[in-house]
Amino acid sequence: MTTPQTLHIGLDDTDSKKGGCTTYLTAVLVEELKKFKVEFIDYPGLIRLNPNVPWKTRGNGALNLRFTYSSKYEEKIKQTAIALWEKHSAVNEKGTDPGIVLYKGAEIPAELTDFSKKAQTTIVTLKEAMALIRKVGAEALGYNTCRGIIGALAAIGETLQSDYTYELIAYRTPENLGTKRRVDEESIFEMDKQTQPFTFNNVDWEKKRVIITPRGPDPIFFGIRGETPQIVKQAFQLVKTLEPVERWVIFRSNQGTDAHLKPVEKLNQLEPYCSVIAKGTVFQNPRIVPVRHVIFPIKDETAQVDCAAYEPTGDLRKIARELLVDDEIEAYGAVHKATLSKPVTVNLEKIRILELAQQSKTQNPLCPNCQKRLKSMGRNQGFRCEKCGGKYPDLKKAETPLPRMLKRGLYVTSTRSQRHLTKPLRRYGQEKSGFTAEGLNDCWHFES
Ligand code: ATP
Repeated sequence: MTTPQTLHIGLDDTDSKKGGCTTYLTAVLVEELKKFKVEFIDYPGLIRLNPNVPWKTRGNGALNLRFTYSSKYEEKIKQTAIALWEKHSAVNEKGTDPGIVLYKGAEIPAELTDFSKKAQTTIVTLKEAMALIRKVGAEALGYNTCRGIIGALAAIGETLQSDYTYELIAYRTPENLGTKRRVDEESIFEMDKQTQPFTFNNVDWEKKRVIITPRGPDPIFFGIRGETPQIVKQAFQLVKTLEPVERWVIFRSNQGTDAHLKPVEKLNQLEPYCSVIAKGTVFQNPRIVPVRHVIFPIKDETAQVDCAAYEPTGDLRKIARELLVDDEIEAYGAVHKATLSKPVTVNLEKIRILELAQQSKTQNPLCPNCQKRLKSMGRNQGFRCEKCGGKYPDLKKAETPLPRMLKRGLYVTSTRSQRHLTKPLRRYGQEKSGFTAEGLNDCWHFES
């Protein structure tokens, strides 16, 4: 008897805007690997990397598969994975730079995990990735610029030991690719009602719009995100599909966990292409710029930056509009570098209002005798009451506090404009830590 080996496969950047999808390649590979009697030790991983990399196709997703296998199949398994990756890679499309990484070992080295965290929050280089691949003894293949190796390695490094979620992705049959997705939308609204708060981002209730179905030519029919494999499957069964489902797979993911956001101490630490949580004081009232975007500056003792709540942020934009000078907030979002016309700007995904400035109105005092508002007798000459005739030369104008429409707390961009990694309000309080493969069985994928 040979002892089983463990293999981790990372995949990225196989698709183009014209079609394909690395999650689909992964779903097909899951079925192919069954021929070699592999035992999956985790759900396939759908790892979203830094959403601000300029060269992403869509959501900067990279994929992993982890399984044990008998060494007699090792070569066949590797050949199958590589052949399928080549077949599904749009190598002739500009901007598609496929990568595949294979790592053998029961444990993921800490350096790989660190690399992955870095790839989720900032920009990493192919040189760094290649040096690490050599150091840990992984194997990698790439086409074109080979940039996909970065994502493939980062996917292997993310073992999702802190917060994570699941997504069941259903795929279309080839004859339907490129056509409008046919699904009973009412059933999706109903599914959302029945499964909340354990599923998220199914629909945008503000615009009454379904958001689980993408629009492009890729093979994804729809994806349902949630807290457990059971709930996403239950939700899937509630959706009335009007076209066939070729296959579906449940992925474990960092989606909806805020993994991309890095708290910074001071505003002078903001770096472009990163997403941050940064504290500051509003120092000019928000202004509205075309087309309905809300911009306001915040500052601390080190720097001043702009915050932008763009029109699609919906509810968040409405909150931003109500902020006032001296409000203290935490801005969550992607940092954009200064241009000739704009300072460094945080594109807001969330705002946490920490303190609201007291807003007040200066008024004449009330008559101490009959409570009517007094009239001024002239500059520095006090007040008189028109009702009872009393005169009060020593009284001064009074500051009356005005109520604020806003309340302290966390506000999140509307569902339709949330990034894959944004933790939606619905998930607060449901964060997880640690994962065991217990209960991982053959009910997490299906092929028709
Ligand atoms: P899809 O979501 O449809 O799979 P995508 O949006 O994931 O597409 P890719 O086509 O995979 O986009 O392109 C992203 C590219 O950026 C990949 O080559 C990936 O290796 C690379 N990349 C990912 N994260 C980083 C990072 N933090 N720094 C540098 N490069 C990165």
